[in-house]
Amino acid sequence: MQTASFVEQFHALGFLGITLNTTFSSPQYFSLDGCDFVYHQPGILEVIPLHWSQRVVISSGIHGDETAPIEMVNQLVSELIQGKYQLGARVLFIIAHPQAIQAGKRFIDTNLNRLFEREVDDDGSLEFNIARQLDSVVSNFFFEGEGLKWHLDVHSAIRDSKYFAFAVRPFTEPEIAKQPLMSLLSKGRVSAVLHSQSPSSTFSWYSAHYHQANALTVELGRVARFGENNHQEIKSFKAALVALLNDAPFSLEQGSFKVKQYRVNRVLNKQDDSFRFVFPASTANFTLFDGGEVIAYEHEQPISSQIGERLIFPNANVPIGQRAALLVVEVDN
Ligand SMILES: [Zn+2]
Repeated sequence: MQTASFVEQFHALGFLGITLNTTFSSPQYFSLDGCDFVYHQPGILEVIPLHWSQRVVISSGIHGDETAPIEMVNQLVSELIQGKYQLGARVLFIIAHPQAIQAGKRFIDTNLNRLFEREVDDDGSLEFNIARQLDSVVSNFFFEGEGLKWHLDVHSAIRDSKYFAFAVRPFTEPEIAKQPLMSLLSKGRVSAVLHSQSPSSTFSWYSAHYHQANALTVELGRVARFGENNHQEIKSFKAALVALLNDAPFSLEQGSFKVKQYRVNRVLNKQDDSFRFVFPASTANFTLFDGGEVIAYEHEQPISSQIGERLIFPNANVPIGQRAALLVVEVDN
């Protein structure tokens, strides 16, 4: 009887509603329209169609206040259940951090998106346990089987950006082919991609490093409250995800939309509490500085930009030793 009531509740509340408002925990299984559904735990839903050629993880809510991607994942599940697209991929839909979402906060104890390195020490945080649970579920999902593996970890930025949508491609060794990712980004009209040059222990890095998945962190717009996101602006990216999930073959050709490419030129690490930026907190990601312009001070020593450098993810409030900003430069390919 529990399963019947679960399915009724699932239809009534949707994936996000059942994640936030019910206590179903042990895996719940049901079938709809030829697909098997496994609700592993709050926020983790696997869907297995009769025939599939690739495996796709679409994750949201790693940061609890980034609501647009959470709403998008919820819509993708609803539209699948309504038969608006036919599934041709095995999918893991993730709303990663229900407790932070309930609290309306980025995190509870610490930033979840730097805990996906398996050797990281247990810091006793709630997020450490969430990272290990996600590792377990995603590892099982990617274990064995043929076909391409994908992971799109979708976020919203905490500041404005020169580009409404941009992506960060994790560093792996050996390198994972770029072409499938560039094809997806072009179809989704994502304006820019940053190619990382060092490992980063993010969720997308985890899937690329441990599972050789085509993985990206995608930043869509800016943090806003539930119901206040402009879904018109993210519809191109959502359409690209549907193209990846549905049962028509996904073309790996580059689309006509040009995606600008960047690489990290320098990482600014905070070495001391005296570290401060000189620009206002509202400065947008990918802001271009003139060569030689002072951008920060530490021990009252100026730190200047180099020609062509753009600044992203500035945050002077990180603990000492952590990254305070990245300086990136555009590359042709
Ligand atoms: Zn985020």
